Amino acid sequence: MPASLTVATHRKHLTAIRAETEDRIARLTVEYDELEGSGTDVGAGDDEGGSESDGTFVERDRVRAQIAEDRDLLEQIDAALIRSKGRDWGSCTICGQPIGEARLEALPTTAVCVTCKARGTGW
Ligand SMILES: [Zn+2]
Repeated sequence: MPASLTVATHRKHLTAIRAETEDRIARLTVEYDELEGSGTDVGAGDDEGGSESDGTFVERDRVRAQIAEDRDLLEQIDAALIRSKGRDWGSCTICGQPIGEARLEALPTTAVCVTCKARGTGW
């Protein structure tokens, strides 16, 4: 690997993204709980109150999807952190070629080189 992107710098990137992602999950979880609270309030004891809470359900689904996405990202970050401890750090997990400094900087969680990514064999 080129000397300008060290494993220490890469790990720092990953750790920073991890903290951001955890913050976002915490915020979204609060948001989700609030939406859930408002969802049960709206139309309580009223059988026809469903239409009013539809918007809340849509919003909750959106927040829940975002939380799921961020949890996936956390797993990818953790996997990348584990890879960064190994000898193969910076190498494509499919073909073994260097992933490339620019790609690792832009996409710190990636496990594959741009060629394998283009082939659709990884993310
Ligand atoms: Zn590759």
